[in-house]
Amino acid sequence: MKNYMFLLILLSIAFGIICGVFFPKEMISISWIGQLFINLLKLIVLPLIFCALVSAITSMGGMKKLGSIGIFTLCYVLLSVSVAVTIGLILLNTFKPGVGIAPSLILANASPVDLKPVPFSSYLLSLFPPNIVEAAVKYEIMPIVFFSIVFAIACVSVGKTANPVIDFFVGLRDVLIRMIIWLMYLTPLGLFSLLGTAVAEASLQHLLLQSLKGMLLFICIFLFGLFLQILWQALLISLLARKNPRQFLSSASNALLTAFATSSSMATLPVTMMVAKNEGISDDVARFVLPLATTINLAGTAMYEAVSALFFCQILGFDLSIPAQIGVFITAILAGMGATGIPEGGLITMVMVLRNVNVPTSAIGLLLPFDRILDRFRTMTNVWGDLVCAGVVDHFHHQQNTDHDAK
Ligand code: ASP
Repeated sequence: MKNYMFLLILLSIAFGIICGVFFPKEMISISWIGQLFINLLKLIVLPLIFCALVSAITSMGGMKKLGSIGIFTLCYVLLSVSVAVTIGLILLNTFKPGVGIAPSLILANASPVDLKPVPFSSYLLSLFPPNIVEAAVKYEIMPIVFFSIVFAIACVSVGKTANPVIDFFVGLRDVLIRMIIWLMYLTPLGLFSLLGTAVAEASLQHLLLQSLKGMLLFICIFLFGLFLQILWQALLISLLARKNPRQFLSSASNALLTAFATSSSMATLPVTMMVAKNEGISDDVARFVLPLATTINLAGTAMYEAVSALFFCQILGFDLSIPAQIGVFITAILAGMGATGIPEGGLITMVMVLRNVNVPTSAIGLLLPFDRILDRFRTMTNVWGDLVCAGVVDHFHHQQNTDHDAK
């Protein structure tokens, strides 16, 4: 069944691209199919995150165990996003793709109306909203993640009387997982429509053709940076988790293709969880690490934030000092986390990084025509990072348990 599904997915990608090129108008007219697929995935994501985190944390019982998985995950996430941003900054400082591009390209760009600057304090406040239901309605993922973790820890500390509450969420999680399995049968149809529409839009607008040399160089550098990010993590999975990176990559391909098609690591989470299961990553680890990593481990996005900010500075002729670049480093990581795995979330949170280096928000307009395609690549990198994170944490967790049993 798995092989048929994989074949169907490949066919749907091929047909999607062919139809997008030859029948663009028809493909755009059926774009609602792709939208429907994304809606169905997103419909499950919020309750899934809540139930997955609550059942994962409570099933671990002992706070000590949760502590070590949590610490491993956080250390990994910090390492992964820091390396990603550093790769981006080194590449941009070396190749300087922005030098020579007319600043008017930024200054003349109409400012995108809906991209309002977000002060850092408001960003922090948004993580702890007064009304969690309202946050859920607005599809704000980070507050839900914080709330789920604290809620689950409270359930564990209350003890016996909280058992019915825990049982309810564990049951709900299983029901949601069953719905995901059903939904996966629709993947080929969803991919066909999503990719077909994207190709059709690009071919109708001829936008990519108007690009400048520097712009193309910037895109190539960014994609190269993502490639390096994928590569060092593949090395890590082989050296630390002792898994065959090729085989890990081929199991991950389902999730990576879904990430590419949906541009959302959140929407891909159900598939990512299935891949982790197939890769033998323990349920305890996968259910805790993956929802958390999907929310905060957006290394591809953090790299995008940093390289874009530096690129704009180069265009405008701003010479960024080392402390200013450290500022970019920190805000890029936070902006990556704020993007929370939604399509083009990184483009919106980029405002935070740009404000930090005094680049006008309208600069984002320069990236808009390319962002949809770049988003697909950084989403793939994000999802790959989440799976590697789960693989590495699972390895350490397993080793820790074995050491513990040996004593
Ligand atoms: N679309 C990305 C993700 O879902 C976030 C972003 O970079 O905009 O991981």
